[in-house]
Amino acid sequence: MGIIDVDLDVLIAGGGPGGLASAEAAAKAGCSVQLVEQNKEIGSPLRTTGGSFVEELKALGIPQKFLHPIHRCRFVSPNNEAAWDYPTAIACVMDVKGVYQFLACRAIDAGAQIRLGVTATAPLMEDGYVRGLRLRDAAGKEWEQRAKVTIDASGYRASLMKQSGVHKGSRRFGVGAEYDLYAPHYDETEAVLIVGSKVAPSGYAWFFSVGQSPRACRRGDHPSRFACQRGCVPGRSDP
Ligand SMILES: Cc1cc2nc3c(=O)[nH]c(=O)nc-3n(C[C@H](O)[C@H](O)[C@H](O)COP(=O)(O)OP(=O)(O)OC[C@H]3O[C@@H](n4cnc5c(N)ncnc54)[C@H](O)[C@@H]3O)c2cc1C
Repeated sequence: MGIIDVDLDVLIAGGGPGGLASAEAAAKAGCSVQLVEQNKEIGSPLRTTGGSFVEELKALGIPQKFLHPIHRCRFVSPNNEAAWDYPTAIACVMDVKGVYQFLACRAIDAGAQIRLGVTATAPLMEDGYVRGLRLRDAAGKEWEQRAKVTIDASGYRASLMKQSGVHKGSRRFGVGAEYDLYAPHYDETEAVLIVGSKVAPSGYAWFFSVGQSPRACRRGDHPSRFACQRGCVPGRSDP
C-alpha cells in the first residue's frame, strides 16, 4: 500500500449532493480539495427520485432546465383522495443526473479534484484522530491519502464515520425502490402520493413525471419516475 505524502486540506468520500456541495464550498474558500466517488460516473446509478422545491433549488443556483415543475399534487389513501393545484409550481422533479453533474462541474470549476472509481475503504486513524482515508481504485490499487479535514459524504451508511467512532450511525432506515418507466397518458404536471398498508406499509409510494425527454418515443408518452419507499424498521442498526 502506497502513501501519498502531500496533505490535502479537504478529502471527501462520496460524490452525491452532500459531497459535491462540500467540495465546491471548500474549494471556493481556497482549500485544496479531492473528492473520491466509488462509481465511475457522477449521478449514476440513480438512487433518488429527485422530488424537490423550485425556490430552494433556484437559491442553490440550479438552472431551470434541470427542473420539471409540478402543478398538481394528489394524495391517495385506501378510502380518500385529495388534490391541490399550484398554478405557479412550488414543487418540482429534478433531472437528478443532470443536477449532480452540474454540481460536479461547479466543484471542479472552483478548483476541486474529483476522482471516479475510487472507494474509501477506511479512515486513516492516528492518535484517535482521522488523518485521511485509505483508498482503492477499480484496478485494486490501494493507497493512503492524508488530509487536514476528512468528510464522510458516503450517504446513509456513514461507514467511515462509524469506523472512526465519530458517529454510531442511524438507528432507523427506510427501504426504497426506484423505477423509471414510460407512462402513456400520465399527466406530466401531476405528482401522486399513495399511502396505505396494501401499497406501501409504514411508508408511501409516489409517481413523478420528469416531463418530456428525447427518450419519449410516442406522442403522449412521458417518461415518469416511480418511487416506492416503504417499511421503516425501528430499532435496527445498519441493514
Ligand atoms: C428511493 C429513494 C428516493 C428518494 N427520493 C428523494 C426525493 O424525491 N427527494 C429528496 O430530496 N430526497 C430523496 N431521497 C433522499 C436523497 O436521495 C438523499 O437525501 C441524498 O441522496 C443524500 O445525499 P448524500 O450526498 O448525503 O448521499 P448520497 O446521495 O447517498 O451519495 C453518497 C455517494 O457516496 C458514494 N459512496 C458511498 N460509499 C463510498 C465510499 N466508501 N467511497 C467512495 N464513494 C462512496 C455513493 O456511490 C454515492 O454516490 C430518496 C432516497 C431514496 C433511497
